[in-house]
Amino acid sequence: MAKKAARKAARRATAVRPQVRSLATRPAVKRAAKATTTTKAGKAGKYVYQFGKTTDGNGTMKPLLGGKGANLAEMCRIGLPVPPGFTITTEVCTYYYDHKRSYPPALKAQMQAGVAALEKQTKKKFGDLKDPLLVSVRSGARDSMPGMMDTILNLGLNDQTVEALAKKTGNPRFAWDCYRRFVQMYGDVVLGVQKRPDEDHEPFETVIEALKHERHHEGIEDTKLSVDDLKELVVRFKALVKERAGKAFPVSPWDQLMGAVGAVFGSWMNDRAIVYRRKYNIPSEWGTAVNVQAMVYGNTGDASGSGVAFTRNPANGTKEFYGEFLINAQGEDVVAGVRTPEPVAELKKQMPKAYAELERIRQRLEKHFKDVQDFEFTIEEGVVYMLQTRNGKRTAMAALKFSMDMCKERLIDWKTAVMRNPADQLEQLLAPVFDASEVAKAKAIATGLPAGPGAASGQIYLNADRAVTAAEKGQQVLLVRVETSPEDLRGMIAAEGILTARGGVSSHAALVARQMGKVCVCGAAAVEVDYQARKVTVDGQAFNEGDWMSIDGTAGKVYAGKVKTAPSEIVAALIEGDDAAKKTEKFKSFQQLMKWCDQATRMSVRTNADTPEQTQNAIAFGAVGIGLCRTEHMFFEGDRIDAMREMILAETLEDRKAALAKLLPFQREDFAGIFRALKGYPATIRFLDPPLHEFLPNSPESQADLAKKLGVAPSAIHSRVEQLHEFNPMLGFRGCRLGIGYPEISAMQARAVFEAAAIVQKEGIKVKPEIMIPLVGFKKELDLQLEVVHQAARDVQAERKVKLDYLVGTMIEVPRGALTADEIAQSADFFSFGTNDLTQTALGMSRDDSGSFLPNYTELEIVKKNPFATIDQTGVGQLVEVAVSKGRATKPGLKIGICGEHGGDPASIHFFEKVGLDYVSCSPYRVPVARLAAAQAALAK
Ligand code: PEP
Ligand code: MG
Repeated sequence: MAKKAARKAARRATAVRPQVRSLATRPAVKRAAKATTTTKAGKAGKYVYQFGKTTDGNGTMKPLLGGKGANLAEMCRIGLPVPPGFTITTEVCTYYYDHKRSYPPALKAQMQAGVAALEKQTKKKFGDLKDPLLVSVRSGARDSMPGMMDTILNLGLNDQTVEALAKKTGNPRFAWDCYRRFVQMYGDVVLGVQKRPDEDHEPFETVIEALKHERHHEGIEDTKLSVDDLKELVVRFKALVKERAGKAFPVSPWDQLMGAVGAVFGSWMNDRAIVYRRKYNIPSEWGTAVNVQAMVYGNTGDASGSGVAFTRNPANGTKEFYGEFLINAQGEDVVAGVRTPEPVAELKKQMPKAYAELERIRQRLEKHFKDVQDFEFTIEEGVVYMLQTRNGKRTAMAALKFSMDMCKERLIDWKTAVMRNPADQLEQLLAPVFDASEVAKAKAIATGLPAGPGAASGQIYLNADRAVTAAEKGQQVLLVRVETSPEDLRGMIAAEGILTARGGVSSHAALVARQMGKVCVCGAAAVEVDYQARKVTVDGQAFNEGDWMSIDGTAGKVYAGKVKTAPSEIVAALIEGDDAAKKTEKFKSFQQLMKWCDQATRMSVRTNADTPEQTQNAIAFGAVGIGLCRTEHMFFEGDRIDAMREMILAETLEDRKAALAKLLPFQREDFAGIFRALKGYPATIRFLDPPLHEFLPNSPESQADLAKKLGVAPSAIHSRVEQLHEFNPMLGFRGCRLGIGYPEISAMQARAVFEAAAIVQKEGIKVKPEIMIPLVGFKKELDLQLEVVHQAARDVQAERKVKLDYLVGTMIEVPRGALTADEIAQSADFFSFGTNDLTQTALGMSRDDSGSFLPNYTELEIVKKNPFATIDQTGVGQLVEVAVSKGRATKPGLKIGICGEHGGDPASIHFFEKVGLDYVSCSPYRVPVARLAAAQAALAK
């Protein structure tokens, strides 16, 4: 019964093969969102478009005819065997909702003409008592919404026409099978006979099961039901309809047809469809079309069948005919899981002629549509018919292989090949992966934001020090925290992956994880962390430190126990220099794609990196410089934090300078390492930015520890920490305000940069330092810092007798900075948008606390997407545009980049291309995504 009860759910959940269901996600949305500007272009008053012998539409008319209708028309035009039919346009759907669910007066006559044309072509008649025409009625939105709306097959049957069909075909079993299917589908979809909240099973399925047990004493397959069984089912189904719907099953084929058309239009506004549209940004104004098509039958016996197929393998990209079919079945059975379908290759043995015809069709489809197609077919008595085709959804791996192969086959050119790889899927190729068979066995225990893609397993630790110690002992570690702070950095580095219970896409954990290429799931609310007990509880299941957990940062899933992983060949080749990986097709294809990206792109891609290692990784991925080096991250390594804390806690200038002098050699060494790793590429180095409290120890134990190290009383530390407390630190004493309040900090940082530059330059390596002042809102702020920087430059150049080539610019990350960009540009050598803070300050929305209300905002469509992940073009975007135009009005050709998290987001990158930025900067593992998105943005122009 479970399998039976699942068939309807399965039918709804998928319109493609179950194993490729998960592919049906984002790329479609992107295309959908882009197509919003396209208008429906119907001829005034024409609501019905025929296909078949005469075909009114074509493949370009998706807004008007829906994806299915437009492609049915296109297939007719290229001579593929499509049963004739007609499409009722999406304009009728719009009219229907604008006019209290009624139709345009001209519709009925046009539908009658449509049915008449079908009758002529099939030589059958709708409702005929000799040779009745049956039709299918199927929805078809502009962009496919798999399983969201409804389908009705075998429409036109009643107690008389079923007898005629039985007689005409000499196959009563087939005729009654069609009839019982029709009553069942129509009863469900049109008359609303569905499972009630107190029922475990679909009511029609309950009737089938009862009959099977009553008559056969077991759950036999549907195909084993006799004519008598099927007749009895029709009787019982109709009684069920009468009882549940309160009215008799409609007899007249025209009443049936109008009811079905209404149900399809009605299904555009059903809860499932509304939720789906919200999720994928499909506007409700688009509406759905309705396709009415002459039935062809896959259920007439063993010479018939139905199937779904892809012209190539959508999971791994192999050029092979890929799909499945069922003998003696209608299309619904293939996706519903009632019987297990067979791979399409089997058809070669069972029906060689039909297979050869499908193979011919497969070639023709690709040649014509120039993309991999996902299609549905029916074989009726050995003859193949096409019922649908659309571009197949695919994994990143398949997309890459398709694009390379099709380019080699000259089906597409290299520019099209670039466009065929969805940028936001590309990270899938770089991520370590869970062994597929192991994941199938594991059960996700919690879900969070997929913040750092890939798969990681490890023994959990709840504190950075213990994580480091465990890693040093050779353990594979997973750091689990409520949320992370810079204090956790060492633990994050030591860990295979990071799991947090709170925090969004620009939270510390997410940002650092992306930068380090760490697997990360953040904001997994079901994860309860008890630091004291060193225990994590998820849904009642307890995990102690040292227990294994696994996280999938691509899907945002958390698993109990250890799930096996393997690194991606691309990472193995580029980062680990693995020679075997370099020879793989996946790696070679990836390199080719990146080469084409460079040919197409206008903007360059830099990276956000704070260490030589991150820099090397980013360069291996194709970055051409550092767009943001957050110097404060360097203060957390080793025992530098002690000197940093000493500096912060210092009460006099002298003490502060003494502490800074301890930090200087560390900074100098770090910068020198970065300059060497850059091999002549520029490095934008951002001066100290975060509020100082972030560096201070919070717990009494760590405060006591620090007091001991510094030789002061713990109370002194405590009171200084209290003194530094701010109510709103993100709007407090941070950014350039620090350097203005304590110019000696900026002086130390500038000196470290220039001394490192001098050292590396003397080694014969080109050095291009670009010092960046954060959080500037007033030109004067920048001017004050400029004085300090230039003074340090003069001093170092004189002391070391070198000439250094450097720039000093600013971040634009507060609205005043953007609005007065013309003034600021008088002093700045370059701008870089800090869109994390710009979003935070423009929206007045804390980047660290928005997790509590943003999901609700997205649900209610107040914001379409998380504005910290994808730039809010209408709001924040205006500030960006103003700053670009004002900045360049003062200084034509002013170099402008972006280094907020949006620099790695494809949709945002398209916007940055549009407004004319020179580069985007993102975390190292995001560089290939940004290169692809930047190339696509340039090509789309
Ligand atoms: C920003 O604000 O966008 C930025 C890059 O700086 P940070 O994230 O370090 O504040
Ligand atoms: Mg910032």
